Amino acid sequence: MNNAADHLSFDMALERYKEVKSKPFRINESDTLLQDYHPDYAADQTTNLNIGVNKGEHCVTELASILQADSPFDSKSICSEEFVDVLVIGGGGAGCVAALSAAETGSNVLIATKLKLGDSNTVMAEGGIQSVVNSEDSIQQHFTDTIQSSYFRAEKEVTAKMIQNGPESIRWLIELGMKFDTDDDGNLLVRKGGGATFSRVVYFKDYTGLELMRVLRSALSQSSISVLNHTPVVELLSDNGRCTGAVLLDLESRTLKIIRAKSVILATGGSGRVHINNFPTSNHIGATADGLSLAYRLGAKLRELDSFQYHPTGIIYPESLAGTLVTEGLRSAGACLLNAQGERFVDELKSRDIVSAAIIRECENGRGVELSSTVKGVWLDTPELEKNKPGILKNQFPKLMSLAKNNIINPTKDPILVYPTLHYQNGGICIDVNGESTVPGLYSTGEVSGGVHGKNRLMGNALLEVISLGRVTGKHAAITAKDVDYGEVGFSHLDKWRSERQQLCKDNNEVAPKLFPTYFNFRY
Ligand SMILES: Cc1cc2nc3c(=O)[nH]c(=O)nc-3n(C[C@H](O)[C@H](O)[C@H](O)COP(=O)(O)OP(=O)(O)OC[C@H]3O[C@@H](n4cnc5c(N)ncnc54)[C@H](O)[C@@H]3O)c2cc1C
Repeated sequence: MNNAADHLSFDMALERYKEVKSKPFRINESDTLLQDYHPDYAADQTTNLNIGVNKGEHCVTELASILQADSPFDSKSICSEEFVDVLVIGGGGAGCVAALSAAETGSNVLIATKLKLGDSNTVMAEGGIQSVVNSEDSIQQHFTDTIQSSYFRAEKEVTAKMIQNGPESIRWLIELGMKFDTDDDGNLLVRKGGGATFSRVVYFKDYTGLELMRVLRSALSQSSISVLNHTPVVELLSDNGRCTGAVLLDLESRTLKIIRAKSVILATGGSGRVHINNFPTSNHIGATADGLSLAYRLGAKLRELDSFQYHPTGIIYPESLAGTLVTEGLRSAGACLLNAQGERFVDELKSRDIVSAAIIRECENGRGVELSSTVKGVWLDTPELEKNKPGILKNQFPKLMSLAKNNIINPTKDPILVYPTLHYQNGGICIDVNGESTVPGLYSTGEVSGGVHGKNRLMGNALLEVISLGRVTGKHAAITAKDVDYGEVGFSHLDKWRSERQQLCKDNNEVAPKLFPTYFNFRY
């Protein structure tokens, strides 16, 4: 840590917080806040794609390099071949939901996943699932909130389907045995997410994702679905423009296996571990944009490749926890953000892009709490929340309170130092209302797909997408599979790709999917 005179130790910063805390509010959300401070709007962060179906479009530089990379695939080393009706790639929430729904039709379903089933962003989700559950709220209002917060970029038909199916999807989860927090009469408790008109985020403490994965895993264990752990997909197969399966890498034996499938569902999640703009991330270790690179090489159209969500409250101190998420549920419950002068500077329940830009503004203009040249942030005032609502942290936020159990920070006594953390990929693979991509036979669901969040996602809408559209996608992929035969094991898309790369991407020496972040030193 830098000890320069104008930097503070964490303890000194805490003392100052106690001295200045009672200052008045200075809420300031100028019209140019996003343009001036949100990383998505920085002109030098994007480049134009040189090859592929999105050629000529803007893409953040780090992702462009991955999308235009070569395949690791070498046909000489294939060891075995298997046939399934539906291949699901990814064992997080979306993959499990889609697989369960596909299997309900009687199809033969296989999940291939990079890590162990459930190791994913889903399992870490905290705040909850956004869906209409109260009579004063409406599907129309949820739709309007979502479209508005997407800056009118969300794809309307797919978004409408996701929201309409929301209440039924929550019922489905309850039937699977998922627990939600309820009042004494058994009514679902709801939180208000930033940018939403009504409180409609249902949750289980700050462990919603863990509880969700618990019931999905349990349902899978009682189904006929097969699971291959530690077996990431490294290339897709094609036959006359249709996706016909995938090539899997067994991480233990380092051998390649072919899975021939009538429908393929990509559910590989997001890309936080690409650390766009050098941000720390809240994402799990496998979030390396694999699905985007696989789909793009096969010819699937992608969207909003220049739009990412930086969640306002990522922990920045201690540095070992950098990027770890502190749920929006705390701000929803009333926790305020304070700068180094003890001032509130933004309405904490504005949408995430605005709150994040406001935090960055405070820090760039010398009003942040500065522990070193790289560790700057603002306070999330959890002690004040606890003072106003005694017991709330222990009762509603046990995951956060585990920081105190482990003697890291005690949020009932000390505020948490936070800064935006790279959290979510707003865009992804273009899909239709059935979850099918622009490549026949290739479906996509969950965070890897794009369309329902436009340029900014509402709290709880990612898990809604996972469940609501995951079910639709699984079902349609399985129904389609009933009417098609197995295609050939083809790689013509790869030949075309490699020749395009040779002409237009000579300087790109990358190989993707990356599978793990660069600091893992993984080699094919
Ligand atoms: C800390 C945190 C908290 C969050 N809280 C909330 C919340 O409260 N509410 C909300 O709506 N959203 C929340 N989100 C976002 C939401 O959890 C995710 O967007 C969503 O769970 C993604 O689900 P998914 O199944 O698409 O991806 P994931 O759950 O990440 O699953 C992707 C799976 O694909 C596997 N995979 C990746 N590459 C390959 C490959 N090449 N081959 C095979 N398998 C592969 C991964 O190992 C993983 O198992 C949160 C996210 C994080 C990180």
